[in-house]
Amino acid sequence: MLRDADIALHQAKARGKDYPYVLFDSAMYDRMVMTMQLERDLRHALERQEFQVFFQPIVNLATGRVKGFEALARWRHPERGLVSPADFIPLAEETMLILPLGRQVLAESCRRLAAWTRSCPGRMPITVSVNLSSKQLLDADLVVAIGRLLTETGCDPALLELEITESVLIDNSDAARALLNSLRDLRIRLSLDDFGTGYSSLSYLHQFPFDTIKIDRTFIQPMEHNASRLEIVRAIVALARALGKTVVAEGLETREQVERLTELGCDFGQGYYFARP
Ligand code: C2E
Ligand code: MG
Ligand code: MG
Repeated sequence: MLRDADIALHQAKARGKDYPYVLFDSAMYDRMVMTMQLERDLRHALERQEFQVFFQPIVNLATGRVKGFEALARWRHPERGLVSPADFIPLAEETMLILPLGRQVLAESCRRLAAWTRSCPGRMPITVSVNLSSKQLLDADLVVAIGRLLTETGCDPALLELEITESVLIDNSDAARALLNSLRDLRIRLSLDDFGTGYSSLSYLHQFPFDTIKIDRTFIQPMEHNASRLEIVRAIVALARALGKTVVAEGLETREQVERLTELGCDFGQGYYFARP
């Protein structure tokens, strides 16, 4: 009973001030056991290097050429097969294992970037975009670690992009701004990911030094059947261009979507229509 009461107490605390109490049920216990197993598995996976980085091309819509790749983490679980980030990033963030995991993804991405740059001399340089979690932005060593990685791998910092979601900026905007400015001082480019899904996104456009806006796929996919979505996408593209920012449309799955975004003047596209990660 004490154990169960403790589990309910944790739930109540996690839900915040509006929940003065929570009633225990057995599903809570099952969830806790699953989370603990997953956390243990995550630690092992880091030691055994079970994480891999997949790359998805980002295509220049006007020319059809690949401009770069987004790095997306995957977990090759010995029993469960390929686990998607939606199933392990939240727990990795909660347990702060996202710090070593994020470093592995960054290191692998820089190694790939360096290898691609070397193997295609004379070609327009390829960029690599890496997702940063809010927890990584709290890591005081982040800027130094990235700077060191770039030097060790011999990557041009201007070819590395870091993707940050809006929700990160809400809680901690002063610290985030300082950190983003230090990254910019290294000449790294910054993307505002999942644009439109958070709140007060518009103020972020001038408060933070973003080069690129990525329109979330929840705006792109209903566009064909929903006139107001289309108008929102049109307005985002126009706004980004007026502010001198590059725009990437996420989640392009059909030729119609690609054609429509090209007509709207969107610079780049990413999605299953071109390639899966
Ligand atoms: P994201 O950064 O917005 O990445 C784009 C997601 O959309 C990827 O999901 C990608 O596979 C998916 N996607 C791309 N094209 C299409 C399409 O045409 N249709 C559909 N339905 N989906 C498409 P994924 O790889 O499952 O990653 C999900 C999220 O997990 C990412 O969203 C990102 O926020 C996070 N994530 C992934 N890797 C990392 C990482 O290394 N570090 C951190 N902090 N987060 C990561
Ligand atoms: Mg992203
Ligand atoms: Mg996104």
